[in-house]
Amino acid sequence: MKKILIAAFALSTVACSSMVSPIEIEQPGYQLTPIQLQPDFQRCSTIEPDESEKARIESEIAMHLEGSRAGVTRQAVSGGVINVYFHVVNNGSGLANGDISDAMINDQITVLNNAFGSSGWTFNLVSTNRTTNATWYANCYGSAEASMKNALHQGTADDLNIYTCNPSGGILGYATFPSSYASKPSLDGVVLLYSSLPGGNAVPYNLGDTGTHEVGHWMGLYHTFQGGCARQASGGDAVSDTPAEKSAAFGCPVNRDTCTGTKFPGKDPITNFMDYTDDSCMDRFSAGQDTRMDAQFTTYRFGK
Ligand SMILES: [Zn+2]
Repeated sequence: MKKILIAAFALSTVACSSMVSPIEIEQPGYQLTPIQLQPDFQRCSTIEPDESEKARIESEIAMHLEGSRAGVTRQAVSGGVINVYFHVVNNGSGLANGDISDAMINDQITVLNNAFGSSGWTFNLVSTNRTTNATWYANCYGSAEASMKNALHQGTADDLNIYTCNPSGGILGYATFPSSYASKPSLDGVVLLYSSLPGGNAVPYNLGDTGTHEVGHWMGLYHTFQGGCARQASGGDAVSDTPAEKSAAFGCPVNRDTCTGTKFPGKDPITNFMDYTDDSCMDRFSAGQDTRMDAQFTTYRFGK
């Protein structure tokens, strides 16, 4: 059964009073149907296996297995161009019906490129299609997700499908993880509230970083507050350089430090794209997240 995390954004007494409690929902276990293309990867290098793999290989050599198996290496990617298929699902013409402009889409792509660029990843808008479908528009999270994605999804595991629509309940967006692709390829991708794109009216989440955050999940990242303070100093996000964080941060709470004591050095990573702070507050991925994205892409998306 899929795991569904629902986190209501706190209605901050300061900045969020006008927002109708936006929500982000994740559904690890979702994916989409493939069809084409191979990203033009900038960097593609052959790397040595890790220590355990080396040991395994050495053991095989010692056992006089086939010589060719000793030379096994893994091809890894550390960045590249990701093709984007953009699907605008609307309720008719005009911005109020979710029929966002090409300019907003281009601005969203720019936001993604600015956010992921330092990690080596670039997003290339291949195509935009527009579909008027009231059912898909209002139920793109939930009952209409599968029908919408099955009809519109393009590309393969290393292509990004972005859908914009108007999910109910103030949902800002949701994404699928790389590890979900193999079982449900047609559901792979990112779904965004149309007004969260740059120029939309989902203040303070209208600078395009819902897109950044959700694509972060699509690249294999977890929330910075995953696991709270219960685990190691870095929390449970499988990244060593994001300090543990007890819960999601909202607004832009500078100097917030929810996991304290000698076991938990460092303040909360509120400026990280994988927290829940305002778009204007988040501006970075960590080096560890970069590494994790690369590993996830290599394992589950590259050439798949
Ligand atoms: Zn998230």
